[in-house]
Amino acid sequence: MIEEVSVEHPVSLDDYASYSHLEADVAELRSAAATLSPQLRGRTVWMVNSTARGGGVAEMMPRLVSLLNQLGVRTKWVVIGTHRSEFFGLTKRLHNLIHGEGQPAFTAGERDLYETVSRELADEMQHLVAPGDLLVVHDPQPAGMGAMVQQRSEVRSVWRSHIGLDEDLPQTRAAWDFLQPYVASYDHTVFTASEYIPSFLSGNVSIITPAIDPIGDKNRAFAAHTLAGILCNSGLMTAHTPVVRPSFEFRAERLQPNGCFASATTPDEIGLLFRPVVTQISRWDRLKGWMPLMQAFVKLKCALHHATGLTEIQRRRLQLVRLVLAGPEPASVQDDPEATSILQELCEAYVGLDSEVQQQIVLLSLPMKSRRENALMVNALQHCSSVVVQNSLQEGFGLTVTEPMWKRIPVLGSNTCGIRQQIRDGVDGRLIHDPQDADVIARTMVDMLGDPASRERLARQGQRRVHDDFLVFTQLRRWLEVLVSTVGRESQPPPQPDWL
Ligand code: UDP
Repeated sequence: MIEEVSVEHPVSLDDYASYSHLEADVAELRSAAATLSPQLRGRTVWMVNSTARGGGVAEMMPRLVSLLNQLGVRTKWVVIGTHRSEFFGLTKRLHNLIHGEGQPAFTAGERDLYETVSRELADEMQHLVAPGDLLVVHDPQPAGMGAMVQQRSEVRSVWRSHIGLDEDLPQTRAAWDFLQPYVASYDHTVFTASEYIPSFLSGNVSIITPAIDPIGDKNRAFAAHTLAGILCNSGLMTAHTPVVRPSFEFRAERLQPNGCFASATTPDEIGLLFRPVVTQISRWDRLKGWMPLMQAFVKLKCALHHATGLTEIQRRRLQLVRLVLAGPEPASVQDDPEATSILQELCEAYVGLDSEVQQQIVLLSLPMKSRRENALMVNALQHCSSVVVQNSLQEGFGLTVTEPMWKRIPVLGSNTCGIRQQIRDGVDGRLIHDPQDADVIARTMVDMLGDPASRERLARQGQRRVHDDFLVFTQLRRWLEVLVSTVGRESQPPPQPDWL
């Protein structure tokens, strides 16, 4: 099935422009669009992906589609579906292989399944598109369908990969071998980093990095009382005076020493807004480096007993600092056995800690039932942090790095391909070379916490970097350029694939 998703226009370009620090960005985007959009007139851009909810692509799509339309490019969004449920099992396997995980082999049956579903979808999609339209197909699930539509109709096509790995492994090779017949036939492809491009595509690729929406719930700035209100409404802080808005329907919960989750202000206030706080917010995924980060923090606290050469304030800061580890509530990851087992491992490690250091670590479960409330909680937690950490073992890009950088919060990231694109060590934040090395992580946290002036300098530069490169305006301009150049590209007669 192919379903069109309707997109509202809750935010206009004028809304962005009404912020003085974004006015010039909107003006630049409008000026670029004045030249580029007319070259797309008469065509419809079809954004195609596999889900309208959940995941980074679905999160980004409404804003992208809405703003392209506002810039004069007729853009529609469709999602694919199928009654053959094994199809998404297969595409999840492709996804994992592109990240280097899983069995690097496919059966003939799997190829048949992929082609059958792609053909069924192409039969439907073909009736929606008109000659000259542009198909922008996201990720492996609809890649086969898009390739078939472009072979049969006079449309131009772009395949956008949101995933990749900066290593050549048997797993990545198996996935790309599987996808090559389809993705190689697109007019153009887009990746997040040059390191992710498989060799058979080189020369026909543009790089577009993900971007954040600076005024959305996840990233907008708050007045102090709004921030305090969100913390109280979400259960992250106790309101000691009346607050205007009622409590959120679903509140954050905190892991207790007995291994169960309860109110986030039990057994004590976390100290957000008062204590120094080091935070990591991510999915419960082994590749996010949770365990070595927790170990590093334990080392930091234990080393404090015999540390020398600290000023009184530095010592006090290290005594008071808490580590906040936050991720999606367990119920929302029940269908993800990996996430459940990683969270379970972390809970066990926490329960096994000495009670003195245990008190200094706060593991939070953030409800996911309301996307808006979840975004506000993530935003508030990032705002309250002295340092945000993203200790990933691998990271495709890492919006959890971009988000705090935009909020002028200093970030400590691992030296992975995605994070390296955003942080230059000592300039826009700090990078640690080995996310498994708890000693180095602990030392870097101590350095950062001990030097507020340098933290502020990194944070300022981090914000500037996001402003210049990773806001939605840059992303839109890049998309306009790619779409226009794809339309203008001389059509190469593609080799006839055997599935036609
Ligand atoms: N996130 C969230 N709630 C959570 C945990 C994460 O909203 O409980 C968001 C986070 O703010 C970020 C996204 O999920 O926007 C994660 O994107 P990222 O690129 O960092 O990593 P991915 O999850 O795609 O590997």
